[in-house]
Amino acid sequence: METIAERLKSAQNSLNMAVEKAHRATNSVQLLAVSKTKPVSDIVQAYEAGHRLFGENYVQEGVEKIQALQELSDIEWHFIGPLQSNKSKLVAENFDWIHSVDRAKIANKLNGQRSAHKKLNVLIQVNINDETSKAGVSIEQIAELAELIAALPNLQLRGLMTIPKAQQDEAQLQLSLKQMHQAFMKLQQCYDRVDTLSMGMSADMAQAVANGSTMVRLGTAIFGARTKNNN
Ligand SMILES: *Cc1c(COP(=O)(O)O)cnc(C)c1O
Repeated sequence: METIAERLKSAQNSLNMAVEKAHRATNSVQLLAVSKTKPVSDIVQAYEAGHRLFGENYVQEGVEKIQALQELSDIEWHFIGPLQSNKSKLVAENFDWIHSVDRAKIANKLNGQRSAHKKLNVLIQVNINDETSKAGVSIEQIAELAELIAALPNLQLRGLMTIPKAQQDEAQLQLSLKQMHQAFMKLQQCYDRVDTLSMGMSADMAQAVANGSTMVRLGTAIFGARTKNNN
């Protein structure tokens, strides 16, 4: 069986190849290791292999890991799951980034709960295929939410995140990714600090990289399959 260090290395290699193929600059796309449902010891293995960016989906679980790994202070923790407003305080107090802000209420709460010492980096989640099962704003709603977030002192607007529909043909996927890239570039024209497009998972990594993604999120490829009932 491959070790986490080995899988991490091959995931990084696949990403590097996709970046090169897309004629993008070396290291222009970051790899977020999605460690949801995986034990702290797995994160330590990836850390020892040199990895620093980790993504968690569930608030309680994520916070427990962050607290257990406090000595590894150069880890950058990203919250990527849906957020209920009654749990926003835990995210505001523990994470470095959140990828899933999709409404004013959550943005305002996070701002109020975040310490003024270090801003919380924020991505707006976009529901690019308009799926009822998914969180996120429409392309048309980005500007208004961005304006609100940009005015909040304890949040730093950094860009957009999306999870494209799983079952769609190649042409539809390409269109979705292109629309996201355009929306991202438009946002960059309005805000200096916008530099992150979180887009691409195992199945669509190469296409996402070809369409301007700056951060891909991989779980299974690095940590192995998750058991079914905790997803
Ligand atoms: C779980 C998850 C991932 C990683 O998924 P894998 O299939 O394990 O690579 C990426 N992004 C989000 C938002 C996720 O919830």
